[in-house]
Amino acid sequence: MGRAVFKKLVTVEEALEALYEHVKPNPLEVEEVEIKEAYGRILGEDVIARIDLPPFSRAILDGYAVRAIDTSFASETNPTRLRVIGRIPAGELPLLEVKEGDCIEIDTGAFLPKGTDAVVRVEDTSIDGDVVKIYDSVGRGSGIAPMGSDVYHGQFVMSKSEEITAEKVGVLAGLGYHKVDVLMRPHVAIFSTGNELIEPREELGATKIYDVNQYSIGALVQKSGCIPIYLGIKKDEVEEIREAVVEGLRCAHVVIMSGGTSAGVSDLAYKVFDGLGGPGLIVHGIAAKPGKPTIIAAIGDKPIFGLPGFPVSALVIYGLIVDPFLRAMSGKKGEVRRKLKAKLATRHISDRGRREYLPVFLKHRRKALNAVPVLGGSGAIASLSSADGVVEIPENVDLIEKDEIVRVELFSEVRSADIIAVGDSSPISQIILEELRRSGRKVRAEFRGLEHGLTWVRDEIADLLVACIPEDELFDPLRFPSKLTNLRNFKMKMVWASYDKEIFYPGSTFALPRIGSGLRRYAEECIRRKVENFDVIETWSYDASMNLVLNRRAISALLPLYTVTKYDVKFIDAFCANIIYLIRDELLSTRIGKTLLRRIRSKELDLTLSSLQGIS
Ligand code: AMP
Ligand code: MG
Repeated sequence: MGRAVFKKLVTVEEALEALYEHVKPNPLEVEEVEIKEAYGRILGEDVIARIDLPPFSRAILDGYAVRAIDTSFASETNPTRLRVIGRIPAGELPLLEVKEGDCIEIDTGAFLPKGTDAVVRVEDTSIDGDVVKIYDSVGRGSGIAPMGSDVYHGQFVMSKSEEITAEKVGVLAGLGYHKVDVLMRPHVAIFSTGNELIEPREELGATKIYDVNQYSIGALVQKSGCIPIYLGIKKDEVEEIREAVVEGLRCAHVVIMSGGTSAGVSDLAYKVFDGLGGPGLIVHGIAAKPGKPTIIAAIGDKPIFGLPGFPVSALVIYGLIVDPFLRAMSGKKGEVRRKLKAKLATRHISDRGRREYLPVFLKHRRKALNAVPVLGGSGAIASLSSADGVVEIPENVDLIEKDEIVRVELFSEVRSADIIAVGDSSPISQIILEELRRSGRKVRAEFRGLEHGLTWVRDEIADLLVACIPEDELFDPLRFPSKLTNLRNFKMKMVWASYDKEIFYPGSTFALPRIGSGLRRYAEECIRRKVENFDVIETWSYDASMNLVLNRRAISALLPLYTVTKYDVKFIDAFCANIIYLIRDELLSTRIGKTLLRRIRSKELDLTLSSLQGIS
């Protein structure tokens, strides 16, 4: 099969327009649900009160129902004396009528007796036989909720197409609704395509990945007010995909698939819809980054969305194209996304001709709000989940300078990070940062190696730098920006862990920290002293390295002794590492800086660390 080129990329707006030309996202019929099920649903009827709320004038505090006029001269020093002619509890109809000089003891929520127009709270009274002394005057209506004061009979309370919030469920109940008409939720069939995909419950083989999109899209579909129907994972074969589409059209109002939509398999898209009915394929390719390989089709009045396989791309395109469509159908209002201005923390190069959606997180720096692009790109779903919002970069922009002002569209109300830790990963950092998190700070850890960490410190994005370097390698302060203060050093014993006795033989594979990590170069030198030819698998963390050994994909991994002792593997000593904690000077005078300083030099930390093997 030849590679088809995208013939014409359309903008997001054009894509939506083309879609709406063929199918309209009309709301479905209404159905009746119990109010227990009504939360989050969209009202399918106007709600007009059939009763008053409250249905009768009632006391809103415990005390005495009085004629306000009788209390006109009451004061602390000269209390008014009223005769108590009875008591009226909540839920009972008072038969007594209050005349001049009388009053009735009354409970909160009780029916206000005839003749009274105010309630004196019990705290302003004292009882003396069958007489109550009143120490404060009250005006008419005081201590009372009059009949219909919340909602009056016949009042228009809520309109069709409003979303039912928790408060509105309360109003419905208060008005005596036990069932309510709501819009039916559209059913959305979802499936993933890809020979490499497996379900999260299955065993992960060497060449497989877990299906992300079916579930992230399923969650978004619910957020858009619809019901997901999961059709599973399909192989990259026309017949199988076609069958899934047919199944989706049968059981749902809308079909969403992901993967297999890039140019390499574009012929497939045509074949899938061929012969299923008009209008068929509508859009193939969108001028957006991420998300170029997007398709939109329709069979009859049912749309089919083909999203890119890359999880981040799929979600971005979902938000731009699928979400507006589904919300129009379900009646769920679009989320109002707050926009704010921030300085872009790093220089960013973009594609001309494609609109880019760049996920960022927020960080305060020198009293200005900064938007920092998240790492990882289109495949990095976890990075996206930690983003605070997205910067939209227009088609005609190909470069944004560092510190240039950009507009960030927030995913939801967010709080910018209190502290960002970068550099080399180490088991100690987990302990320190976990403590900060527990004290309510928003801590962000991006341990992507020393080189990356240094860049972020220089750019004043990061606050805490963790350098993990070989003990006998000179710690060169010049390599670090001078604006850093050393908080503390630790020592960590490193070992070569292996499932085998023999480690260093030609062609063996080692799991090592990534290039740019403080230990990488030295680790390779150590290996090279023993063996000339070897392979390296790079990892971001010691746990990942450990896993490679456990799964026998690497003969050996460079690991802290502490990590290794948790497993049943052999190991031999490698070398000792220095772990250096450096903080940006600017932070030292801030509250979080001081907290960090205190904790990192605390006795408690010493105590915790003393129990960790090979760390001091
Ligand atoms: P595709 O659009 O099928 O060419 O896929 C692009 C990339 O996304 C490949 O690396 C796929 O392995 C990955 N991918 C595709 N579908 C999924 C999915 N459902 N979950 C996670 N990753 C996926
Ligand atoms: Mg694929």
